[in-house]
Amino acid sequence: MTRTFVTGISGQDGRFLADRLLHEGVEVHALAHLEEPLPDLPGVELHRGDLTRVEEVRKLLLDLAPDEVFNLAALSSVARTWTDPDLTAQVNGAAAVGLLESALQVQERSGRPVRFVQASSAEIFGQPATTPQDERTPIRPVNPYGAAKAYAHLMVDVYRHRGLHAVSAILYNHESPLRPPQFVTRKITSTVAAITHGTADRLVLGNLDVRRDWGWAPDYVDAMVLAARADTPDDYVIATGVGHTVRDFVEAAFHRAGIDDWERLVSVDPEFVRPTDATDLVGDASRARSALGWAPTVDFEEVVGRMVEADLALHSSSSPSR
Ligand code: GDP
Repeated sequence: MTRTFVTGISGQDGRFLADRLLHEGVEVHALAHLEEPLPDLPGVELHRGDLTRVEEVRKLLLDLAPDEVFNLAALSSVARTWTDPDLTAQVNGAAAVGLLESALQVQERSGRPVRFVQASSAEIFGQPATTPQDERTPIRPVNPYGAAKAYAHLMVDVYRHRGLHAVSAILYNHESPLRPPQFVTRKITSTVAAITHGTADRLVLGNLDVRRDWGWAPDYVDAMVLAARADTPDDYVIATGVGHTVRDFVEAAFHRAGIDDWERLVSVDPEFVRPTDATDLVGDASRARSALGWAPTVDFEEVVGRMVEADLALHSSSSPSR
């Protein structure tokens, strides 16, 4: 039986990955942060720990000797990493290196191959000169999040050359109703639902003109699993290839909720505009398509639609007056 170790289990992708692996009959072990409430994940063996305590995590990994390691843990909100750049460097950068080294030690001790997947990010490209980006696009991050992820991404390649089956999945924005509301997509869909139900009157955002490539999170989890199990390890851009602005997302969300005159309900507050921000992140996933047979299954309109429907349903069930 395959034994898998997952970090970042409480996040959106961790939950989708745990569901998928348990469904396959994989034995899933996961690291739950010391301070967070234990996530409700029946079937997952949870271990308390802190990724920045590299020696403790190494001991755990050497004891468990997993066949696969998925490193999904990160300070995931780009905006927040500006207020916590040191912790971002530790968690999104150095901790990944600690895990890579641990995985290599497990492999050397057990004599069995260990497969490692790093959840990398489009943010490593910063403000790229070309669109769409692919695996050959220069790495030039513009925020603490992207810089820490870039370090981890480069170290995956270093460990790959040392003989670890190490994969870096360069994930573009991927969403679902499990996204927390500090991400723009969920902020939009939860506020649109609140406006529809009369419990909010405005949607206040930052830059509406940035373009992102928004996909469906479970598709991106599938890509990471395919990459882990492929014959040879590589870096893969995981993206839909289709870009939309934040304004497009807002418009599509209001339309889905039946509101066409949405512009009067939206305003911009500089508080939500970032010091530097990538303006156009759209990925070319040709390599994942040809080497892994991966393709996104849910388009932009449907991602927005599913998130709006989920938030409308959540709102109906939580407001007793309706
Ligand atoms: P990110 O791409 O991983 O940083 O994901 P986010 O969902 O947090 O942000 C996507 C884009 O939306 C970024 O370019 C933000 O600057 C932009 N954006 C515009 N208004 C907002 C807002 O109110 N909240 C957030 N989180 N992002 C916003």
